[in-house]
Amino acid sequence: MSSELSYVQPTANSPWGTYLSQVDRVVPYLGGLARWVETLKRPKRALIVDVPIEMDDGSIAHFEGYRVQHNMSRGPGKGGVRFHPDVTLEEVMALSAWMTVKTAAVNLPYGGAKGGIRVDPKKLSHKELEKVTRRYTSEIGIIIGPHTDIPAPDVNTNAQIMAWMMDTYSMNVGGTATGVVTGKPLHLGGSLGRVKATGRGVFVTGREAARRLGLDLRGARIAVQGFGNVGSVAAELFAEAGAKIVAVQDHTGTILNQNGLDLAGLVPASRTAGGAVSFKGGDVVPNEQFWDVDCDILIPAALEGQITAERAQKTKARLVLEGANGPTVPTADDILAERGVLVVPDVICNAGGVTVSYFEWVQDFSSFFWDEDEINVRLDRIMMNALNNIWDTADKHKITLRTATFAVACERILMARQERGLYP
Ligand code: NAD
Repeated sequence: MSSELSYVQPTANSPWGTYLSQVDRVVPYLGGLARWVETLKRPKRALIVDVPIEMDDGSIAHFEGYRVQHNMSRGPGKGGVRFHPDVTLEEVMALSAWMTVKTAAVNLPYGGAKGGIRVDPKKLSHKELEKVTRRYTSEIGIIIGPHTDIPAPDVNTNAQIMAWMMDTYSMNVGGTATGVVTGKPLHLGGSLGRVKATGRGVFVTGREAARRLGLDLRGARIAVQGFGNVGSVAAELFAEAGAKIVAVQDHTGTILNQNGLDLAGLVPASRTAGGAVSFKGGDVVPNEQFWDVDCDILIPAALEGQITAERAQKTKARLVLEGANGPTVPTADDILAERGVLVVPDVICNAGGVTVSYFEWVQDFSSFFWDEDEINVRLDRIMMNALNNIWDTADKHKITLRTATFAVACERILMARQERGLYP
């Protein structure tokens, strides 16, 4: 049966095309469940909304918004909301599908969903940003909810935006529905440890991968692309463990220092309008130089499709930790495997965020909040159990960690699908 959809035209390396190729690679390991695989190749539901707002100057602007619920076989949809001028339906579909795989890989009782708005939030005033967020939330309010689909932060969204989303949804339904989004501020039902959770998960899985490779983190050289929530937190944790952050790239450019960048200065500088390149403790170099910098570990933590075949060919890293979703295109994946570069794939590497989002949701429902140590201990345990299980599967079938993660996850998703049966 064809899995072509009339409403997207993916290419081999586009986000949905990348995802489809990853699913195709797992089919030989699914046994009889392969019969259900088509269910993974199309979203359950995709909503496109118009988001009109009145701008500060009195003009009316329209933005395109999306919420895609890829699969809900194992539980409510779960996944972030991205504000970026290049967001497309195809991208949101792929991000929602990776959420389905990720929540199953770490065995959380969720499906996968994702949302986005085609907007550059850096060009909006605070008030305009609030209006866009509220109108978007109201438009997708017909399909989200604490028991159906729970958004969270992603690129260019944060705790403040989650607070507006929670408030808008609550106003529309009456009452205070804290469980409708995660990644909220602490005093609005947020969880300790959520802000750092994704970076922390990258560190936990990376530390284990380095141990298995015999790579000592003390003195290890690390290059990080994307220095926002995920990249900067991961960098700080690796630096605390003795590693040197030798290169950082963000949307403003690339900064390099083979002796190690001083994060105490770089992190605050990267949060200003000038970005990472405004930090004076390194050399600003052309962006392409980032990809063949002398390093042991490469952490892509920005956007999809960044590790192309050409960049995979020239990287000097022994280990790639996918903080971002979908950073490696399928051809690059093959080249990295041939070159013996170990890739810890997004669907396990960056699962720390959704894991602590799950803790937040559980705490909201029980109205009982845990301390940060408890959060981090539970996060480490879930990540390590999942990673070890995936590693055993990879060893057993002699496959990459990515295909092994898909094998573990897709078996759970399709088993749930089979047990539920087809309605009607
Ligand atoms: P963020 O908005 O906090 O940071 C994004 C970073 O990427 C910024 O430093 C920005 O300058 C940089 N960037 C943007 N465009 C770039 C470009 N063209 N080249 C280089 N750098 C560029 O976003 P985030 O939450 O850190 O998310 C980063 C990635 O991690 C995304 O792929 C996201 O889907 C993924 N992720 C995030 C979470 C989470 O909890 N926030 C969880 C799982 C996965």
